Amino acid sequence: MTGKKLIEEKLKKAKIEIGDKIRIDSKTIKKEGVLMPHHLFSDDDVITIKLDNGYNIGIAVDKDTKITFLEKHKQSVKKTKDIPFDKNKPTISIIGTGGTIACYVDYRTGAVHPASSAKDLAFAVPEIFDICNVKTQVAFQILSENFEVENWKKIAHIVAEELNNGSKGVIIPHGTDTLGYTAAALSFMIKNLTGPVVIVGAQRSSDRPSSDAELNLLSAAIVASKSDIGEVVAVMHNEISDTCNAIHRGTKVRKFHTSRRDAFKSVNEEIIGFVKNGEIKLNTDYKKKAKGTVVVDDKMQTDVAMIYAYPGLKPEDIPDKKGVVFIGTGLGHVPEKILPRIKELTDKGTVFAMTSQCIFGRINMSVYSTGRDLLKAGVISCKDMLPEAAYVKLMWALGHSKKHDEIEEIMRKNIAGEISTRTRSDTFL
Ligand code: GLU
Repeated sequence: MTGKKLIEEKLKKAKIEIGDKIRIDSKTIKKEGVLMPHHLFSDDDVITIKLDNGYNIGIAVDKDTKITFLEKHKQSVKKTKDIPFDKNKPTISIIGTGGTIACYVDYRTGAVHPASSAKDLAFAVPEIFDICNVKTQVAFQILSENFEVENWKKIAHIVAEELNNGSKGVIIPHGTDTLGYTAAALSFMIKNLTGPVVIVGAQRSSDRPSSDAELNLLSAAIVASKSDIGEVVAVMHNEISDTCNAIHRGTKVRKFHTSRRDAFKSVNEEIIGFVKNGEIKLNTDYKKKAKGTVVVDDKMQTDVAMIYAYPGLKPEDIPDKKGVVFIGTGLGHVPEKILPRIKELTDKGTVFAMTSQCIFGRINMSVYSTGRDLLKAGVISCKDMLPEAAYVKLMWALGHSKKHDEIEEIMRKNIAGEISTRTRSDTFL
């Protein structure tokens, strides 16, 4: 007998249940820990235990591996079956979407696998139940680079449904790579938020030493259940150490580092607030939660591209699309020689918008002649919007009108906090 059957047999013989403290003696490793549920993505012959330091390890089991019962764990009884409910606590919804926050490491193979359910995720951080009641569902389980507009729409509708059904707030665990795009998309699509919508990710999966997953999730739960924010926000580590989580506005947040735990920063404005020692401190203005019904306005034109400007960009590199967001140089420039192509496509109905690869600061196309020519050609200034927010917004604007002047009006208007009223020199990395 091998694999799953062998493990089941050994556990049954020793009367061990999920959540019990056990010892495993194999040829290569001897460890004590709490038995975790078998994971869908784990190899059949791997048993996962949570060590005292909080990290999970996967251990391969063969016929000679000894598994010994040590003690009943306090959370063992309900480990995967029932989520506890306390009528005195607020209820929030967790909508799983994938990413590292929903991953664990198979220590035998070193591979990172997505967790199988949002419920697993909640149970991975049982302290969350001290804060609130949790309703969970998985919208889908994908890496965020594979997101499409349809994914944003699906999340938007689930969020609205959950809030309209009485949840105080929503948490969306998400891959960090495109977390900012989803945060911006939901900010434009969901209207009249009656509770906080908190997108959260992790740079290192929960089974790794120095994971940020647990603290990020706990802080997200605090914001979702206790704050009066009526916006889409991202909650991520504010510092390298486990001291403080930042609350970022969904249209202003960006990932600035591939691996640091404090990779996320707010651009051109200060963070909305932070969570420290379980307490929320709010720094700045934010939209308070609304009364009534949450509404989704998800009309999006997907035929939009983002084009990064660089020396050598050629006219033929500019695609014939309904919309193009330039990530221009400096104050908002592209090489002069692509101007005829912009004019040609504008005449055919393409809407061009300008952001900056400087990321910090504001577009100003009136300073240099190349900028002025772009303005004359109808290129819309995105002011201090992030390129990703401008990209999503242009899709949304094109979804709402076919007329250039109406689209321009939408792009110029601050709809979801994407445009700061003043340029702040004190908000720079
Ligand atoms: N690239 C994946 C994603 O964004 C994993 C990275 C992460 O979650 O941080 O979904």
